Amino acid sequence: REGERIAKAMARAGVASRRDAEEMIAAGRVAVNGRIIDTPAILVGPMDRITIDGAPMPAKERTRLWLYHKPAGLVTTAHDPEGRPTVFDNLPEDLPRVVSVGRLDINTEGLLLLTNDGGLARVLAHPGTGWLRRYRVRAFGSVTQGELDRLAEGVTVEEMHYGPVEAKLEREQGDNVWLSVGLREGKNREVKRILEYLGLRVNRLIRVSFGPFQLGDLAEGAVEEVRTRVLKDQL
Ligand code: URA
Repeated sequence: REGERIAKAMARAGVASRRDAEEMIAAGRVAVNGRIIDTPAILVGPMDRITIDGAPMPAKERTRLWLYHKPAGLVTTAHDPEGRPTVFDNLPEDLPRVVSVGRLDINTEGLLLLTNDGGLARVLAHPGTGWLRRYRVRAFGSVTQGELDRLAEGVTVEEMHYGPVEAKLEREQGDNVWLSVGLREGKNREVKRILEYLGLRVNRLIRVSFGPFQLGDLAEGAVEEVRTRVLKDQL
């Protein structure tokens, strides 16, 4: 899943045969992410912007979206400089090339959306959607519902402001508490940082919903495509 050769991507989009695509590249008519390329030995993925004679290459494939149950221990990046296992190395074989909608931390589990449409991924990951992201959280420490209620007005932790957080104490388990936490932003490490503010150390973090999409009983490591009709209704 490291991308495909650009001439193949152009052929798949129906722009030209592979051979013609290579000639267009040699003639300096093709750009990737704003830069004219001079060799067909370039790999592209769904996030890359390809233009031909300055115009965006039309996408032939329809937009598709999948729910994925991310297991803990995988990084959400295509290439990890530290060589850790990635989400993309561990997806079912028959899935086309996809990108993720935002990221989950290496040890975070649960719902991650995947799509073959880089533009859609950007739009859905943007905090501006205002979509609720709900997590089940296990954290070391103790807290009262009253303390959690303070998060409803938002908090500033180390100069980063977090908008309203809905947090509910579900139960205590030994030295840990289980919480349900909902927020609408999608900032880096937000759940961990917000709960640290209350003296809690997150040791299990499971995303159970993202906007209208639910993890449900999807098995760990499995994907499930969102039906086109549902996709159209939600987007
Ligand atoms: N908040 C976090 O701290 N980590 C995640 O992976 C997602 C939300």
